[in-house]
Amino acid sequence: MAETAYDTDNIFAKILRGEIPSHRIYEDEAVVAFMDVMPQGPGHTLVVPKVPSRNLLDADPVTFGPLFTVVQKVAVAVRRAFNADGVTVMQFNEPASGQTVYHLHVHVIPRFDGIALKPHTGAMEKPEVLAENAGRIRAALAS
Ligand code: 5GP
Repeated sequence: MAETAYDTDNIFAKILRGEIPSHRIYEDEAVVAFMDVMPQGPGHTLVVPKVPSRNLLDADPVTFGPLFTVVQKVAVAVRRAFNADGVTVMQFNEPASGQTVYHLHVHVIPRFDGIALKPHTGAMEKPEVLAENAGRIRAALAS
């Protein structure tokens, strides 16, 4: 089992540095949250710590307090924003688990009774839909 180093040019590192645009819904000194461009459901949000690690396996444990504080905030907000029945929180570690972007992140996805998730990294959502959904979540976070 080879250890793989953190790649500073991964897509979320670029988003965190502002080199690639994203629909941000939340930011504090430790954590950023933005819309997933290939959502598995409306309102699918990614919560990302600013400090670099590939995933949960190599992260400094001090990362998790601030990270999961924001995961909870976002979960409550997406539930309210989309009037969801529930919220799925997911996190993948290394390719065998389904991880495709190697900067630690947590998926927060509103869920509705009887409606399955769309495939992981399936279709790209229209930017205007992501912008509208981001606006709904920002409003819920502010209320
Ligand atoms: P993972 O498979 O690593 O758990 O999740 C990576 C997530 O990032 C996927 O759900 C995928 O749709 C999303 N994603 C991939 N590229 C981009 C991008 O450029 N911007 C945003 N906002 N999300 C991305």
